[in-house]
Amino acid sequence: MTEFGFIESLREQFSTLPDNGFEGIGDDCAIYPLEGGDALLFTSDTLIENIHFLRDAATPEEIGAKSLMVNLSDVAAMGAQPVATLLAISLPANISEEWVKRFIEGYRQVSVQYGVPLIGGDTTSSTEGIVINITAIGRTQQSHIKRRSAAHVGDTIFVGGVLGGSAAGLRNILEGSTDTEATHLHHNPQAQIAEGVWLGKHSCVHAMMDLSDGLASDLRHILKASKVGAVINIEKIPIHKDATIEDAVCGGEDYKLLFTVDEKSTEEFCTQFLERFGYTPYAVGRIIESESYDIEWREGEKVFYPDWQGFSHF
Ligand code: ADP
Ligand code: MG
Repeated sequence: MTEFGFIESLREQFSTLPDNGFEGIGDDCAIYPLEGGDALLFTSDTLIENIHFLRDAATPEEIGAKSLMVNLSDVAAMGAQPVATLLAISLPANISEEWVKRFIEGYRQVSVQYGVPLIGGDTTSSTEGIVINITAIGRTQQSHIKRRSAAHVGDTIFVGGVLGGSAAGLRNILEGSTDTEATHLHHNPQAQIAEGVWLGKHSCVHAMMDLSDGLASDLRHILKASKVGAVINIEKIPIHKDATIEDAVCGGEDYKLLFTVDEKSTEEFCTQFLERFGYTPYAVGRIIESESYDIEWREGEKVFYPDWQGFSHF
């Protein structure tokens, strides 16, 4: 079974239970609408030593900061403001007190940067390796929430930043160089938190999510949820200078936003985004009608059929 097949089967097995007011499995966060028009959002992500990070390749501060950043990314990817986090951490016997202190310092720095308090969690021992699980909570107006299911035919597809740097960095690390520009990016992902919250307030932005598994995989989640297809113009994909097109499309952990914008508002939207953030996001394609909910990759007029899938745990 694949990672996404497993998630789909969970969704089915629990579909007969009462939802108790929650909108669950399938998006970057679960949603709980509050009386008065706001909603709370919930997301959880796990980082495992030797799968998500190597203890000696990154500083403890980097691991702490990244663990939190990737969770805040999921909250902002739905247009919500992160408001609190819970940290569950399992530590093996061979970990030093200094490592833990420095990990927490990295976590604290990102908490301070975004004004997000740590409100709970759990601490245990581990038989092997460090296990970090974080739950992040967000809040926003219900009308500002951006779901994966909201893409419309004709929408322009944007990515928020340059892709592939994290995958190139991971390659460097596995080859033994831990101190390159790309490894720095891999260890210090700059999630687009302020951008996500701002995009939430703009009704011309339809679907949104963050890029954690690569454009090829993540865009397909939007297509499936919205029952549409996409044309992606390969030459418009912003690729990190040390990355290949495969890194940019199939590589994970870039944590840039992927979103669609009403075609009629695209120009005005870009102007406003530039005014607010000092750069423009990258228009890489458009949403089309399609029964297969798949991506048509194009270079100029030429259509490609590459086997680009993106990252999956199994
Ligand atoms: P993301 O990459 O945005 O963190 P994932 O690919 O991890 O999202 O998960 C996709 C969806 O499946 C999310 O809504 C997530 O909450 C849900 N999900 C993943 N694993 C589980 C699980 N073990 N139990 C319940 N829901 C899960
Ligand atoms: Mg996500």
